[in-house]
Amino acid sequence: MSSIVLFGPPGAGKGTQAQRIMDSTGLPQVSTGDMLRAAVAAGTPTGMEAKNYMESGQLVPDEVIINLIRDRVQDTDASNGVMFDGFPRTVAQAEALAEITEVSHVIAIEVPDGRIVERICGRYTCGDCSAVFHDTFNPSNVEGVCDSCGGNDFKRRADDNANTVLSRLSAYHEQTSPLAEWYDQRGIFFRIDGDRAIDEITEDILRALK
Ligand code: ADP
Ligand code: ADP
Ligand code: ZN
Repeated sequence: MSSIVLFGPPGAGKGTQAQRIMDSTGLPQVSTGDMLRAAVAAGTPTGMEAKNYMESGQLVPDEVIINLIRDRVQDTDASNGVMFDGFPRTVAQAEALAEITEVSHVIAIEVPDGRIVERICGRYTCGDCSAVFHDTFNPSNVEGVCDSCGGNDFKRRADDNANTVLSRLSAYHEQTSPLAEWYDQRGIFFRIDGDRAIDEITEDILRALK
């Protein structure tokens, strides 16, 4: 069993690419952001603890995240590994992950800061199937209708606004980007230029995973 990590700043395209490579890898997407948003919506103790951090664009404490992951990898669909999206985000999380499961590839989707705000402020997702869209760069084929499932319940995230993006970007640079070096030293870090067409990026990721 071996897992993959999709790494990169907020809005880099981790979720978009995870959905596109899911069939080729055969691994389920595990997004800590999605898990936390579900916990907030359900009002669980984890959700109540995470809510303020998320709204202000700060990282949720490591122990909360590590407990979520420890439970998630016990699920039967995770028995051959998973595709982590947005985890790990600190060196402490990566150290904990190394005790939990083997990671074969860390795919870093690199996008300059100047592109991030426009990516995030135009993002919307399908509330039924979690497909990701963008007002300008990747709109649904029929306005108001999800390409993947035909649903019409589009959502925007509370933290996808210009103010919070700046906090999320500083959290990325201060706490998450040191992980690049950590994984590079282990020889499993693959850099992909994420400032290109979505399909080109998908091709490069699949090539890196071969
Ligand atoms: P992340 O999971 O890394 O936060 P998403 O996959 O949600 O990023 O993508 C952020 C936004 O940018 C979405 O609105 C998505 O449609 C859009 N997007 C993703 N990849 C690209 C790309 N290569 N070029 C332009 N827009 C993109
Ligand atoms: P994005 O990649 O677009 O920034 P995510 O959905 O991955 O968004 O994360 C949204 C928020 O959830 C983060 O700003 C942070 O507050 C919290 N979060 C998600 N994953 C983690 C993690 N691994 N460690 C700490 N906080 C996390
Ligand atoms: Zn959908």
